[in-house]
Amino acid sequence: MIVVMQYTATEDNIKKVIERLESEGFSTHLSQGVSRTIIGAIGDRTLIPGLAIEAMAGVEKVVPILHPYKLVSREFQEENSTIQLDKLVIGGKDIHVIAGPCAVESREQIIETAQAVKAAGATMLRGGAFKPRTSPYSFQGLQEEGLRLLAEAREETCLPVVTECMDVESLSIVSEFADIVQVGARNMQNFNLLKKLGTIEKPVILKRGMSSTIEEWLLAAEYIMASGNPRIILCERGIRTFENYTRNTLDLSAVPAAKNLSHLPVIVDPSHGTGRWQLVAPMSRAAVAAGADGLLIEVHLNPSEALSDGPQSLTLENFTSLIGELAVIAPVLNRQLAAACRD
Ligand code: PEP
Ligand code: MN
Repeated sequence: MIVVMQYTATEDNIKKVIERLESEGFSTHLSQGVSRTIIGAIGDRTLIPGLAIEAMAGVEKVVPILHPYKLVSREFQEENSTIQLDKLVIGGKDIHVIAGPCAVESREQIIETAQAVKAAGATMLRGGAFKPRTSPYSFQGLQEEGLRLLAEAREETCLPVVTECMDVESLSIVSEFADIVQVGARNMQNFNLLKKLGTIEKPVILKRGMSSTIEEWLLAAEYIMASGNPRIILCERGIRTFENYTRNTLDLSAVPAAKNLSHLPVIVDPSHGTGRWQLVAPMSRAAVAAGADGLLIEVHLNPSEALSDGPQSLTLENFTSLIGELAVIAPVLNRQLAAACRD
């Protein structure tokens, strides 16, 4: 449930409500907005009648949260969450384009790509070091060496680095190097990993599972937030349907749906969402029109030579022209493309 405090509530009123809730076995999450304070209380509501809390000094009302996810819900927090990463803000007016190869392949490749996508207008660098591949015989990523190369690319360009963590065991090393830790579609319901992500300081990009409903996706985000990390970015990356011309069916309706249900930023990955580079630019434009806070796009200097996902990777030339189009579309929606860091 949500305890909405009166405008006039004192610090002491707030403290007493929190103490009471916690003594009844609830975990509490304080949200201090510009005009009022809201206390989210997670636990068994039958243990404490709402009325008992409503009678406490400084309390305006007690509202049950009807959705199974609580902390990530729009009911819990009306305003959009913004995530600050140095000078970059995700979830505000700025739209971020995160670009780079599917996988880090070599020093030369990742540094050249980082410089090129930055020059084209990307604000963050993506690149997989630990790759979740369907076949055990496919390239599995450069692993720890890949993380070190991403860090070198960041040094060169100042672009923050987004990379995937596949399991609990590698989380400490991945979060040491990454600026944002990505949870892949295949791990969206790896609950132990989600709980552990709640304990790190870095923001998390949570991809939607390929067979997950929006509610399951938000519940996965709830695991991370309930474990202590509120800096979560949702990423729609396509779901499995009967259609097999595309690799996945990019569910762009999930963007406004998730934004209605949740206060978290939502980005879109049109590369995995379609599996075909020809569809990436149109779906990127549509994602921005649908209200996405950013895009995660695979770019390769030479897609035909890519060690993974070449067919869905944009060339630098196509990526550059896409950014030009997005810069025109964004202002129509009262948004703007974010500016990259300056080194
Ligand atoms: C990726 O972004 O590198 C990736 C593997 O994507 P997904 O988890 O969406 O398949
Ligand atoms: Mn990929």
